Amino acid sequence: MHDTVFSFHSPTEIRFGAGTLDQLHLEMPSRGWRKALVITDRGVRSSGLLEKLEETLKASEAEYRVYDGVLPNPNVHIVHEAYEIAQKFKPDVLIGFGGGSSLDTAKVVNILKSHGGHALDYEGGETVPGPCGPLLAIPTTAGTGSEVTIFAVVSDPQRHIKLTIASKNILPTLAIVDPKLTLTMPASLTAATALDALTHAVEAMTSIAAQPLVDLFCLEAIKLIFENLPKVSKHSNDLEARSKMSFASLLGGLAITNSFVGAAHSIAHALGGIYDLPHGVCCALALPAAMEFNLDYKREKYEKIAHALGASSAEGGIERIRQFIHTVEIPNALHEMGVRESDVPRIAQAAIADGSTLFNPRPLSEQDMRELVQRIF
Ligand SMILES: [Zn+2]
Repeated sequence: MHDTVFSFHSPTEIRFGAGTLDQLHLEMPSRGWRKALVITDRGVRSSGLLEKLEETLKASEAEYRVYDGVLPNPNVHIVHEAYEIAQKFKPDVLIGFGGGSSLDTAKVVNILKSHGGHALDYEGGETVPGPCGPLLAIPTTAGTGSEVTIFAVVSDPQRHIKLTIASKNILPTLAIVDPKLTLTMPASLTAATALDALTHAVEAMTSIAAQPLVDLFCLEAIKLIFENLPKVSKHSNDLEARSKMSFASLLGGLAITNSFVGAAHSIAHALGGIYDLPHGVCCALALPAAMEFNLDYKREKYEKIAHALGASSAEGGIERIRQFIHTVEIPNALHEMGVRESDVPRIAQAAIADGSTLFNPRPLSEQDMRELVQRIF
């Protein structure tokens, strides 16, 4: 380890545990937060979760408004719609409440509220010129880890791409991770988000920015997902297993914010931009193929993953992951999700231009990417 140098950055304060949301009424006044704009989606509202948040906000005596127009793969128009409300209401804290889409939307609204301009102005890495205002992130899924990441991903419908904003300045001030909020997640969402977390753990551990502290998080996250996704798929009310899934998702978020992701995410971002497909499902489809492509460049890491899963070789570990993904009810190939074969080159082109490609352990040419996309078609 004498030649190992790394830094680890995670300034977001994390409150983790079942029932932690119920304490928000104490948290708000202690931080001087009196006006909150909640950014969420209609699914969260109809599941009854928003009511729980509103209860504790009322108890805190804070004034609040709710924007519930977030959609999966949120685009820049949604961000600006929420920003308009923020401009009128002038909240002193933004609350992202929901899955990664709501949390990412809240992050971008926070950038605009703090620095002005248009969402597209901030595409890329370290484009946010300074700190943003207070942001509270409360996930209701277990997968994206967005509550502790430097990333916000939104779609540009004009260019049909998902753009990533990556900056330490957009990290939430506080993350409240209350596994009780995930109990009502439907099975398909549970699976898709869990497979996103699995992809975060595998890709962060094998990225070119991988480091030993992140490895620990990733290995633990992978084990937790393998043990607990089958449990929560069978018994959605299993709070113990749900808590472990929320913890795995949090670990994945901490991992990618320090070590980034790779080609499976590049492909998932391309598919999300062009076809508006669910992020976690796209990640899961691309992950085993990307692992095989990268194998010889990170064999030692893949062996560690394999051992954590009880397999005796790196190849065996990849096979375990492939089979695990197959046990979850998601499509097996891109053509099952309405992707056209004639679009493979276009998907590859968008994937190669995605920032995650830079962190893939094995360099990819556009031809490599095209073959990878074709393999999962
Ligand atoms: Zn992801």
